[in-house]
Amino acid sequence: MQSRSTAVWSMDGMDDVLLAKHQERYGATGKLFRAPGRVNLIGEHTDYTGGFVMPMAIGFHTSAVVSPRHDHRMVFYSQNYREEVSLEPNDLMKGRRDHWSDYPAGVAWSLGQEEIEFGGFNMTLSGNVPLGAGLSSSASVEVATVMAILNLAGKGLPLEKIATLCRRAENGYVGAKSGIMDQFVVAGAVAHRAMMLDCRSLEFDLLPLPENVRVVIVNSMVKHAVATGEYGSRRDEVEAGQEVLRHERTGIDLLRDATLADLESCREKMSPASFHRCRHIITENSRVQKAREALLAGDVKGFGDLMVAAHASLRDDFAASCSEIDSLVEIALRHPACVGARITGGGFGGCTVNIVQVSAADNFVAMVRNEYRQATGIDAECFICEPADGALELATKGGKA
Ligand code: ADP
Ligand code: MG
Repeated sequence: MQSRSTAVWSMDGMDDVLLAKHQERYGATGKLFRAPGRVNLIGEHTDYTGGFVMPMAIGFHTSAVVSPRHDHRMVFYSQNYREEVSLEPNDLMKGRRDHWSDYPAGVAWSLGQEEIEFGGFNMTLSGNVPLGAGLSSSASVEVATVMAILNLAGKGLPLEKIATLCRRAENGYVGAKSGIMDQFVVAGAVAHRAMMLDCRSLEFDLLPLPENVRVVIVNSMVKHAVATGEYGSRRDEVEAGQEVLRHERTGIDLLRDATLADLESCREKMSPASFHRCRHIITENSRVQKAREALLAGDVKGFGDLMVAAHASLRDDFAASCSEIDSLVEIALRHPACVGARITGGGFGGCTVNIVQVSAADNFVAMVRNEYRQATGIDAECFICEPADGALELATKGGKA
């Protein structure tokens, strides 16, 4: 969701400074809650048909500092946008304003749908998750906001509830069509672990990532304008294919239930586009399950090969890559310390995710930046990451990483 205001980043987003700024602005000591961004290692476009994903939280955060007010107003100040928005409870009924405040306001609205009561508050938000890069700054704002409001209300909620509440804020208030993955992992992740999530049952496994590798996120710095429209049409094609399978084969409720043989038997009944989109999702679900086995077996090479296959499937069957991203993946795979590389996120730009031997991570970053600049003239942003704690873990540790 685009915002009309321009965001800024600076060191005054640090926790202590943020608490001091909140005190200065609102004359009260606030409580601080943090929620990370996330990256998806494998399992792309599988979440909205009840499939499997494998994200992890990363060491970038949005912080929410909150203190109570004596009236019922909800006041949000974003340090990134240097802007304050003040809302009456009734304003939430008017819906979104196409503004950054839709995200935290949507969370307040979603809590209201759940009949969770809370009083007025002042909230200062500040984040260093890159915006709109596919690292889910949106879920990070939502989850930090809900943690802060729940604390104020003296309520605790289980992970599943927190995630579904925040997803409803994004779907029902902000108006973005997203699955449950982002909010779930941002709230529930655990350091040093990737999370395999079953998006239908919300059961999950925390899986160890070997200590000798790092997850390197490379931002292509491009986001093609077609992305929003193409995302919608991909979803329509997937849902049309799913509908055919549901109608033609017994025991299929969601695409997640279908096998390649089911799909093949319905090939003539759906458009070629639907066939290919569904084939990506069915094969991707099986790759995620194999990726889980690989991590449990400590087989990082096998994990990397699955990422490479996942990229080819997203590029060829789902038609959601672009030349810049393909070039980043090709460059990455030429580096001897890179064991796997693929596009991550909705597609048509954004980031790649790479698994790289820790000893060569800096060298990998230098090589990718250099060769990508030569190929495209663009300076890529690279982040060397390890799986980080989600908001619930951070809260039990006192809000500090
Ligand atoms: P992504 O989730 O990939 O970063 P989205 O478009 O889903 O991209 O969400 C980005 C939006 O989230 C921003 O445009 C802004 O409206 C909101 N947002 C993210 N971080 C902040 C912040 N620190 N303060 C206010 N709004 C934020
Ligand atoms: Mg988002």
